[in-house]
Amino acid sequence: KPPSNSKHNSKPKSLDNKTNFTSLREKANTLYEQRKKLPIFGHSDEIRKKLRDQDVMLLVGETGSGKSTQIPQFLVNEFWCRPTDTKITQKDGKEKSIKVGGCIAITQPRRVAAISLARRVAEEMGTPLGSSSPASKVGYSVRFDTSTSPSTRVKFLTEGMLLQEMLHDPWLTKYSAVVVDEVHERGVNVDLVTGFLRNLVSCDNQGRGGVPLKVVVMSATADMESLQGFFQEGFKLQAEEQKRIENGSAKGEKENGVTKDISVCHIKGRQFSVKTIYSPEPVHDFVDAALKIIFQIHYKEPMPGDILVFLTGQETVEALEHLVNEYAIDMDPALPKVQVLPLFAALPQAAQQRVFMPAPPRTRKIVLSTNIAETSVTVSGVRYVVDCGKAKIKQFRSRLGLDSLLVKPISKSAAIQRKGRAGREAPGQCFRLYTEKDYLTLDETNTPEILRCDLSQALLNMKARGVDDIVRFPFLTRPPRESLEKALLQLLNIEALEETGSISEIGRHIAKLPLTPTLGRVLLAAAENGADCLTDVIDIISCLSVENIFMNANSEEKKEAAETARRDLYRREGDHLTMLATVRAYAAEHADRKAWAERHLVSHRAMQSVMDVRKQLRTQCRQAKLLPGDQRNDHFPDPSPVLILQSFLRGFATNTARLVPDGSYRTVVGNQTVAIHPSSVLFGKKVEAIMYNEFVFTNRSYARGVSAVQMDWVGEALAG
Ligand code: ADP
Repeated sequence: KPPSNSKHNSKPKSLDNKTNFTSLREKANTLYEQRKKLPIFGHSDEIRKKLRDQDVMLLVGETGSGKSTQIPQFLVNEFWCRPTDTKITQKDGKEKSIKVGGCIAITQPRRVAAISLARRVAEEMGTPLGSSSPASKVGYSVRFDTSTSPSTRVKFLTEGMLLQEMLHDPWLTKYSAVVVDEVHERGVNVDLVTGFLRNLVSCDNQGRGGVPLKVVVMSATADMESLQGFFQEGFKLQAEEQKRIENGSAKGEKENGVTKDISVCHIKGRQFSVKTIYSPEPVHDFVDAALKIIFQIHYKEPMPGDILVFLTGQETVEALEHLVNEYAIDMDPALPKVQVLPLFAALPQAAQQRVFMPAPPRTRKIVLSTNIAETSVTVSGVRYVVDCGKAKIKQFRSRLGLDSLLVKPISKSAAIQRKGRAGREAPGQCFRLYTEKDYLTLDETNTPEILRCDLSQALLNMKARGVDDIVRFPFLTRPPRESLEKALLQLLNIEALEETGSISEIGRHIAKLPLTPTLGRVLLAAAENGADCLTDVIDIISCLSVENIFMNANSEEKKEAAETARRDLYRREGDHLTMLATVRAYAAEHADRKAWAERHLVSHRAMQSVMDVRKQLRTQCRQAKLLPGDQRNDHFPDPSPVLILQSFLRGFATNTARLVPDGSYRTVVGNQTVAIHPSSVLFGKKVEAIMYNEFVFTNRSYARGVSAVQMDWVGEALAG
């Protein structure tokens, strides 16, 4: 039901007198009409009944059927979703009274989706969002940005944040239910979340004072049979364990009146037909091909009908954004206008939100997105999809012992999802920038990330949660032994584990940081080098957390212009010190940061994100007493490049290469040839050795984010 104007629903004025609750309620009432039309709406009773009887439910529904926005609203008023007073037995045998439950967590693979869904559900429920009001019922929590209130009942959070919360509260006592959304994406974190949740639902709920946790797993496509088997296996093992303990007198199928069945609920979506148009021949430059198709659609196809283009990452999105805007200037003035909107994870929030707003009158919206818009977020108004057929994925390269980002063909299942985005509201068209023959060679589904990426973060996560025997952890898909071993070695290298394999003090500290273990190690090493070094390293890490702070300079001409514009920022030590100089100069600019960024061909958008991350990391370091409370804000002593780079080497000792007599660089581990990426300030330079932030493979192997280091520092760092 929509929020009524009853006394019960209106918040006392004293709690929050800034928010206009009446207008929020009016908006919610309007949205209620839209919600009623969602395919999932008629399933509310069925879903609520199932969850009263069972603890685990699986839900399959096409993208846009209303899973993410409606499920939490169906469940939040159920009797089992209220906070319960109960008692737990502590380690010392004493009983302690606690409150369990009251809140629903909905996990998302992407931060963009978590924030935009929270915003939408807050509107639908007629409540302010997150920390904006103490009366807010809907909040979110993503890395570097948490917005909740004491009254939060529905919380959208990334899988990584739920794992973080489990570090402090392994029994998830705050929650009555956890909804795992978008499980088909199969990132490593969702595999960990499902593993931990299986353990939680198939136990005696001791740490929750006997109050069971409800779990809903939702997907647009996934093979639910394997998930069903996965949770059933957990219950079976629990029953066997119980039988053993009670020596054959197990309580049977029922416990707390809840049967241990797992049902799958299917929601049929609303989908109009979408015509597929393949490229007649292979496409070499998909940015260029997309540009042509966009204007072909705009010139020939009727309005309304927005265009959604799937590209590989921030760089291709920004390149195409630039081109479309340039071409639009010379467009026939009689034609409707175009509004180009980029969408990628590192985009600041305000810019992301614009994607969801309808285009102004007589304007066609052109959304340029990474695979975020595949299933995570629904952009309304789209009738034309342009699919480049590729995505950037993380892949572990075991010979190098590190993850690299590779641009790879997508799976058939992803291509079908992309196409489906054109048929949400009316019949549509999907332009595939690849041939039909190429489509037929695509893999059926996405390979789970756990099979192809660096597991050190996942492993540290598990160790920090007391999972010592990794082999017995319930993985949805078991990772290869080789990558587990590599991850263990990596964690040993950065001293996050003891020689025995158990987690070290350093490891515990790193696990609590919102960073990869390597960057976490760098941060701690910098702290050992003093507050000034740490402050500088935070600035650099903040830059590394966004994709690219410099505007692309692909052509020779642009490269020269960029070099001139950024001359006072470039540092001969390499990209790390250059990033530091950029953050310092940007932070010191008080007049007009946007103009400063434009002058220096620096992305203002990226720098805004950098400043957000920097603020969060500084706060976190202050809380962890790594930085003094009265830390400087504007006073910058000269940086100490040696200390900074040596701190980085404590995490990145294995990401190094030395110059060999033929003038090329060879990785210190693995002895592979690697070239300095053209985007680096050290491109074309010869130094004794280099350290790099990432390894990218396009037509050859490149090191990106490069600094000059000395071999004896590398040796020291490798020796620990
Ligand atoms: P599913 O999870 O099944 O993909 P959602 O619950 O995410 O479906 O979306 C249901 C509908 O809610 C969408 O069709 C869209 O109209 C609306 N919606 C979702 N998020 C937003 C948002 N941030 N802004 C506006 N509308 C949204």
